[in-house]
Amino acid sequence: KLHNTILELKGNIRVFCRVRPLLPDDGRQEASVIAYPTSTESLGRGIDVVQSGNKHPFTFDKVFDHGASQEEVFFEISQLVQSALDGYKVCIFAYGQTGSGKTYTMMGRPEKPEQFGLIPRSLEQIFKTSQSLSAQGWKYKMQVSMLEIYNESIRDLLLTNRTIGIESVRGESSSTSGRQYTITHDANGNTHVSDLTIVDVCSIGQISSLLQQAAHSRSVGKTHMNEQSSRSHFVFTLRISGVNESTEQQVQGVLNLIDLAGSERLSKSGATGERLKETQAINKSLSALSDVIFALAKKEDHVPFRNSKLTYLLQPCLGGDSKTLMFVNISPDPSSTGESLCSLRFAARVN
Ligand code: ADP
Ligand code: MG
Repeated sequence: KLHNTILELKGNIRVFCRVRPLLPDDGRQEASVIAYPTSTESLGRGIDVVQSGNKHPFTFDKVFDHGASQEEVFFEISQLVQSALDGYKVCIFAYGQTGSGKTYTMMGRPEKPEQFGLIPRSLEQIFKTSQSLSAQGWKYKMQVSMLEIYNESIRDLLLTNRTIGIESVRGESSSTSGRQYTITHDANGNTHVSDLTIVDVCSIGQISSLLQQAAHSRSVGKTHMNEQSSRSHFVFTLRISGVNESTEQQVQGVLNLIDLAGSERLSKSGATGERLKETQAINKSLSALSDVIFALAKKEDHVPFRNSKLTYLLQPCLGGDSKTLMFVNISPDPSSTGESLCSLRFAARVN
């Protein structure tokens, strides 16, 4: 419980920064752009961005440099994940421009276990722990949903008939499928999204195939709508209800893992038409998220949850005694320096 105590001292919002390695397609001048964290080899607290000879220093709760493995990153969040089993509501976001490593951080590479990201690692840990707690009388029920928010519309990624899933996001009225995806919160802080597919899960293998199904739904959406998954927010939700059969104690925890849409600015994408509408929707929802987290961090009376679908959906999991972690993913590519500065300033605001 030490970890929880530390969280309470500084509020419930953490910001971790992760710099991905240089890739073959990136620019060549590497080291002049970002000075990596210094305290240990791959984990520190400081990061500098050098732009036009000016050094911009930032400090976060943790900074992982290009050498940090998926395992090392997971190690630093495993207690936060664990707290969902203790009945906390947890949100972990990945924020950053397209290509900065958000999906790598959240999902990783499915072919290689050592490159599994936070989602498969978290689920494995939760299942293992829940099984070991059964010796103390705990019985858990786990439910998974996966959705995408694109242009402020929800798309159900676990809908078995994928064609219907695509229709529902195309038409604003969702009239073709009759699915409305209306978000409501009840008095107990539980969120309901009407018509959203919720699957009872009891094994890690089952979740893996659901993740595959969701990935497939996203790629089908891509070709049908000429849309890239980087233009939408991906929200993975695990609901955990636990009851102890000997003490009759009950817990209700939620773990939300969110791969946000790319944060790149409008000027760079040179968008018009549909693309412009997309970018505006992304900018609007990311700044709404920033406003909400900022208001929560400052303990303001009014938190503007209703300004976007994403913040409204996650409202009960962001306020109160819930726990929030934001990864800000950074590309070391010299051509991304401007975007990196924007991302770090965004993160510094909520930190
Ligand atoms: P995003 O989701 O932010 O658009 P990706 O996660 O797709 O970015 O990452 C872009 C590319 O960089 C991918 O090919 C990914 O595999 C690779 N990559 C990202 N982070 C790392 C990392 N820490 N180690 C190795 N490769 C990475
Ligand atoms: Mg991605």
